[in-house]
Amino acid sequence: MTTIEHWIGGAFTRGASTRTGSVFNPATGEAQKQVLLAEESDVDAAVSAAAKAFETWGDSSLSQRSKVMFRLRELLVEHEDEMAKLISSEHGKVVEDARGEIIRGREVVEYACGIADVLKGSYSDQVSRGVDVFNFRQPLGVCAGITPFNFPIMVPMWMHPIAIATGNTFILKPSERDPSVSNLIAELYAEAGLPDGVFNVVHGDKTAVDAILDHPDIAAVSFVGSTPIAKYVHEKASATGKRVQALGGAKNHAIVLPDADLEFAANHLTAAAFGSAGQRCMAISVGVAVGDAGDALVEVLKRKAEEVKVGPGDDPASEMGPVVTAAAKDRVTGAVAKGEAQGAQVIVDGRDLTVPGHEGGFFVGPSLLDHVTVDMDAYQEEIFGPVLSVARAADIDEAIALINANPYGNGTAIFTSSGAAARRFQREVKVGMIGVNVPIPVPMSYYSFGGWKDSLIGDSPIHGPEGVRFYTRAKTVTTRWPEVKQSVDAAFHFPTSS
Ligand code: NAD
Repeated sequence: MTTIEHWIGGAFTRGASTRTGSVFNPATGEAQKQVLLAEESDVDAAVSAAAKAFETWGDSSLSQRSKVMFRLRELLVEHEDEMAKLISSEHGKVVEDARGEIIRGREVVEYACGIADVLKGSYSDQVSRGVDVFNFRQPLGVCAGITPFNFPIMVPMWMHPIAIATGNTFILKPSERDPSVSNLIAELYAEAGLPDGVFNVVHGDKTAVDAILDHPDIAAVSFVGSTPIAKYVHEKASATGKRVQALGGAKNHAIVLPDADLEFAANHLTAAAFGSAGQRCMAISVGVAVGDAGDALVEVLKRKAEEVKVGPGDDPASEMGPVVTAAAKDRVTGAVAKGEAQGAQVIVDGRDLTVPGHEGGFFVGPSLLDHVTVDMDAYQEEIFGPVLSVARAADIDEAIALINANPYGNGTAIFTSSGAAARRFQREVKVGMIGVNVPIPVPMSYYSFGGWKDSLIGDSPIHGPEGVRFYTRAKTVTTRWPEVKQSVDAAFHFPTSS
């Protein structure tokens, strides 16, 4: 069985690792590869390689950095098929969906191609007579990224292209569930001309994460994953003086007003709830049917949920693949059972689905729960699977209040034909990313991605302008070049302009 190794200093290595984890094919349920699980000394080796590489990369020209990004972008296009199939085989999502995350990740590389423009500083002439002020931003040093299983290429790409283009070196600790594509990215960076040690991959579990969080020579940590781990990472890395960005879990609501086109709304809700088997941080997991919209909406949702074609990710006919692990399957079926026991109506039940020829796979079909209320576990927990709960609200006030009372605030959407209602919603809702008749409003790479409340711990959204700010720090320089002899007496009062 293949063993997936670390990539440190420009080469694959086993380092000091002896422990391994199984990487499954979720469509068959079989372990297909082993991944090394790093020890503290492996993280140490990666930090040493990255720190050494920073001595030259931190001083590289903007054009050298953007040339690497342009070349990487082309290689990502060339290898798209191979990467999409690889992701599908370890994550389970359908190949076309994997292609989608490659494209969205590549857009961050495209943003990083223009780093020379983005990094331009500012200049103020003559702030005082003969005095000018300018500022510019410099890289931090060695940065690290810890990422979740659900977007094995896109989420790391929210981090490393920006970190590297701004002059940092980087250590990626990808999810141990679907680690292979990160090694392929490392090879593509090398082919694109990135010097050894600038991008490193250390595979592992909590041991590797803790070694990163505690390491004194890592300047910044980016984390994306579940909220409890985001809180842990934020607290622990902050305690050792690092910059931290920590994005957490979600429970995303979509409001459907009675004036919405129900067929259009239900179509989008179905795709947003069940695409990637609901394993997206921007998946819609709660539909909030307002007033008269309720029964009619549930009727259309039922029909659409029953039509979803579930099968292995490499079958072009499949619209939805399996969930990532057997434990994830148990969690999803358990959530539906708890919902039923607590009084929700199970309109579509995906618990007993089997896919012929793939009986051992981690398949679970779409489930639709109606009359879900806030006290139910199905509402309170992030199920992170193909379960759409429908809650009812009397009016838009009640619907907005429901969303605002939820501890998460990642994404939300409204379906309506009223501009006034949409405008009110976007102003009043306490959520970071909002869609108007758009179910999954993931911002483009030249904006930044980030939720509110328990969906983002700390204050730093990811990629785009916020990413550039996160991976750099500013210097402000005040200059004077005297042309004629001026008074040589230094003033002892606090300087003011003259
Ligand atoms: P996870 O929190 O279990 O794992 C994320 C990373 O943390 C992995 O690299 C994992 O190895 C590591 N990790 C896990 N347990 C740890 C521990 N006890 N100590 C230290 N490190 C640990 O998340 P996941 O299951 O891989 O991904 C799904 C979660 O990620 C969902 O909650 C989803 O909402 C969230 N997510 C959020 C966003 C966002 O942008 N806000 C994006 C994608 C996924």
